[in-house]
Amino acid sequence: MILHVDMDAFFASVEKLDNPNLTGKCVIVGGLSNRSVVSAASYEAREFGVHSAMPIFRARQKCPQGIFIKPRMHRYKELSRNVMEVLKKYSPVVEQVSIDEAYIDITGCEKLYGEPEEIALKIRSEIKEKVGLTCSIGIAPSKVLAKISSDINKPDGFFHITHNEVPGFIETLAVQKIPGVGKVSLKKLELLGIRTLGDVKQYPEDVLLKKIGKFGKRLIELSSCIDTSGVKDFSVRKSVSKETTLNEDTNNIEILREHVLKQSENVGRELRTMKVRARTITLKIKDSNHEQITRNITINNPTSSTEIIYREALSLLDAFKIRKKIRLIGVGTSSLTSEDSPVQMELFNNKGSKNKNWEKVDKAVDNIINKFGKESVKRAVLKKPESNE
Ligand SMILES: [Mg+2]
Repeated sequence: MILHVDMDAFFASVEKLDNPNLTGKCVIVGGLSNRSVVSAASYEAREFGVHSAMPIFRARQKCPQGIFIKPRMHRYKELSRNVMEVLKKYSPVVEQVSIDEAYIDITGCEKLYGEPEEIALKIRSEIKEKVGLTCSIGIAPSKVLAKISSDINKPDGFFHITHNEVPGFIETLAVQKIPGVGKVSLKKLELLGIRTLGDVKQYPEDVLLKKIGKFGKRLIELSSCIDTSGVKDFSVRKSVSKETTLNEDTNNIEILREHVLKQSENVGRELRTMKVRARTITLKIKDSNHEQITRNITINNPTSSTEIIYREALSLLDAFKIRKKIRLIGVGTSSLTSEDSPVQMELFNNKGSKNKNWEKVDKAVDNIINKFGKESVKRAVLKKPESNE
């Protein structure tokens, strides 16, 4: 059973939460220039036909009394983290798909927290209590149906499709409700006389594939209740990175290397905690003119080893010609895969076994840090030289 949790008018609701004067008002969050678009509109503003992705000037025309607010991303991110914290309590398998949306696989969690509807109710009231915001939840045996359901009783509601109800629900499901069906595919489907997933099932497969292409296959699968996309908890994060704005701009390579080592340690540890490995390692540099440069390298075998991340980041740093003083430096990793995915064996060199040894070192260091705290163990290079008194 999968839950899809979607916050209601998230950015606009956060603004209302932080400013009670906005209660009952048409709140529209978006860039303030006329070239920007609406990021979120409160339900009051939606009454006037304002919706997200609409150009701001259109929104002003439709809702002149609207209160237009510039997005405060750091605040939204902060509350998003709090929401995700709540979700992670109910299941270890949580896939965050956007700042205000996540799938949770609750299969097997019933014993702990009750029936799916009870779990949804608990999550909604806990989010309301801890974060102060409402959300809507869809419950279904697959991701796509859970997502469609969360929209049905929005805002502050939920909708449940049980196993037995799936065939009936699909039969009458309008194709425009399916995520990924845009204006273009909708037009094509309409021309074929297809309005619901039930109609898709009636249509000859080969003709549909020819007319709609790859997406036709997905529709055919959905119409036969096939949705094999599972909840991927590791895709919660697409990258892990650490960066530091230096106390003062510098071109001292030793200082820069020291930061790269510290950051590699933190990035490596975070990857290991998330039980993922990274294939791409990135070095980010901002010079005193605020000009940003990134360099990256993709390695054959995904890694979470501090040593390997450090080594690769350092080679990027050493290859970089420092012309201006550096103001910010950072190490990032991306192309993450689960620790359980198979790793390519390195048969013809001894690098593989060396890397295994580094993994042992990492594990030992992680254990010490988990027990005694971050300051308890440091790589020798990072230790400040003892003063000779
Ligand atoms: Mg939302």
